[in-house]
Amino acid sequence: MFTLMGLILRENDRGETSKSVTVLTAEKGFIDVFVRGGKKSTKNSSPTQLFAYSKLCLDEKKNSKNQSVYYLNSCESDKLFYNLRLDAKRMALASYFSELLMYIRTEDASCGEILRLALNTLYFLNEGEKDMELLKSIFEFRLLCEAGFRPALLGCSVCMTYEADIMHFNLSTGMLECDKCCYNPDSIYDIELDKTMLYIIRFIALTEYKRLFAFKISEKYQKKLTAFTERFVKYNLKGKFPTLDFYRLL
Ligand SMILES: [Zn+2]
Repeated sequence: MFTLMGLILRENDRGETSKSVTVLTAEKGFIDVFVRGGKKSTKNSSPTQLFAYSKLCLDEKKNSKNQSVYYLNSCESDKLFYNLRLDAKRMALASYFSELLMYIRTEDASCGEILRLALNTLYFLNEGEKDMELLKSIFEFRLLCEAGFRPALLGCSVCMTYEADIMHFNLSTGMLECDKCCYNPDSIYDIELDKTMLYIIRFIALTEYKRLFAFKISEKYQKKLTAFTERFVKYNLKGKFPTLDFYRLL
């Protein structure tokens, strides 16, 4: 038996009365935990509901393929992000975050940074004071950075120029080129960035968590940023996200 902290990302039916939950943890990455009687209303139900961040006491058993299977022994919630349930649009955005997380699901042990990003983003979404589109862009781009898709943003990959009026970001190479060095500005993967956009993108990719959510941008740059981060997600994950379409409908 052991104890760890985890964020509940998904609830799955397991028979008439039980459920399993997919949990994001710092120590073990993404794990599935079987909750006996979890569909009934018991002391275990609220700490194992969607988006709860809880202390989970688990039993680990090995199945016939020698894979770990986890069973919930007891649990206690730390944060429930309760306000998300009161607003359909916030809930839709949180569901999109969870879908993205499930998409990059890894059994890697080192999910501490991803868990931290998810908790911080849900905290601000739950508080309701920050712009939802900005939260969405920060989450999309930083998540992919933490998941191994961080692009090379230090400067032009040819001449090392740090900034220029126009820099080109190539989605397929993940590299920057200045206007003078840009080899193929007409490529379908080319995205032109002005100084402000480059600053914002570098900030989201590289700044420490303490400062990550402490900035504001104009509506004009938010539109550009949304277009950029959505394209970045689509290109790298090659997926379709029904929860994003649903969020856009609201
Ligand atoms: Zn250059």
